[in-house]
Amino acid sequence: MPDLDLATLIVVTLVVNLLVALYMALLARLQPQQSAFRHWAAACFIFVLASLLATGRVYQVPAVFSVLLAHALLALPPLLVATGLLRFIEGPLAKLPWPPITGWMLVYLLALGSSYSYHYSAAVLNAAVIVTSCVWGVKLLQQIEPPRFINRLLQTVLALHALTMLMEIYLYLRYWNTALPVAVADILQWILSSHLLLTTVAAVLLPLIFFITREQTLLRQANQDELTQLPNRRYFLQESIAYLTRKGDNTAATVMMLDLDHFKAINDNYGHNTGDVALRQVAQILTQELRKTDFIGRLGGEEFAIVLPDTTETEARNISQRLRLQVEQQARVVDGKALGLTISIGAVYSSHFSAGQFERLLKQADDALYDAKRSGRNTVTFYCLG
Ligand code: GH3
Ligand code: MG
Ligand code: MG
Repeated sequence: MPDLDLATLIVVTLVVNLLVALYMALLARLQPQQSAFRHWAAACFIFVLASLLATGRVYQVPAVFSVLLAHALLALPPLLVATGLLRFIEGPLAKLPWPPITGWMLVYLLALGSSYSYHYSAAVLNAAVIVTSCVWGVKLLQQIEPPRFINRLLQTVLALHALTMLMEIYLYLRYWNTALPVAVADILQWILSSHLLLTTVAAVLLPLIFFITREQTLLRQANQDELTQLPNRRYFLQESIAYLTRKGDNTAATVMMLDLDHFKAINDNYGHNTGDVALRQVAQILTQELRKTDFIGRLGGEEFAIVLPDTTETEARNISQRLRLQVEQQARVVDGKALGLTISIGAVYSSHFSAGQFERLLKQADDALYDAKRSGRNTVTFYCLG
């Protein structure tokens, strides 16, 4: 029986939302700096409370509670989901757009207060608030870079929710002055079921999005050098060794060590900030000159390392000279100052590379770099191990 199904769905929705609300409240306590959880916890609690009030209609609870108060409260959960998303995406201290929020809330409450006893007015007004909040949520999620499956999923849920609510508005307006035909009443019941289902799915997705995004941010911070955005030493070594292990022995590859020339003098003469800009500029030049399949990392200080997989000796010689020349040409002026920045490169080519030898080859590239420095800098020393 559809009535029984709907009643079951309402109970399940309320229980799930109550559980998610408690879970969010716990997260809000554990992570007080992340204010989004407080918004989302409040959204779930208010949704449960308002839905219980709304079901009071069946038990002859006066309309002022079961319709007016219930619908006044029902406007808050979608809005709080959106404000929570704003705080989550733009930062826990991001300013909320209070003037439009309070303005529209006042309009909503005035319209609701003056018309809630007419026809389907309360339902139509509430659906309009849900549509607006869902569209706002979809637009906020659009800002998250890079776009991820879980964000797209929540966007889809919010968009579907907005669509079903638009359909509800259309049907209520279309049959404003007449009794609802049975088929339309069935559709509206189906809309109510989807509304409850989509609310629950959104409530469950919110903490998931938070944890996945945070996990990826932490992972990026652990693997990336903050100044140049290149892989740091640990991640560079890990990725290079993993690649060489996958390839097996006897892989042709080149390892390079690169070091900025007279960098200490640049810091001393132009300041540490200009030094930092120079490091970022060199990182950018190296990245744009290399292929997507090459590995590059900042090993520390003003030292970088590169692994060129599947590269012949001649190609590797050309690439190393090209990198040296590009830095000489493109980093002549840094931060508006004529630094004349150059790099020295030590490179080791081997036609039978293996993961186990990687650290030794890196050391040999470092020896080659030392030779390059001794022979005057702004040069490449290339060892071919055969
Ligand atoms: P060489 O040509 O022999 O490599 O000389 P160098 O001056 O480049 O080498 P040295 O090892 O004497 O100095 C490296 C300098 O790099 C010293 C250090 O202050 C600077 N440095 C290391 N990390 C950073 C950083 O993150 N930012 C800035 N601005 N400077 C850094
Ligand atoms: Mg140096
Ligand atoms: Mg150095």
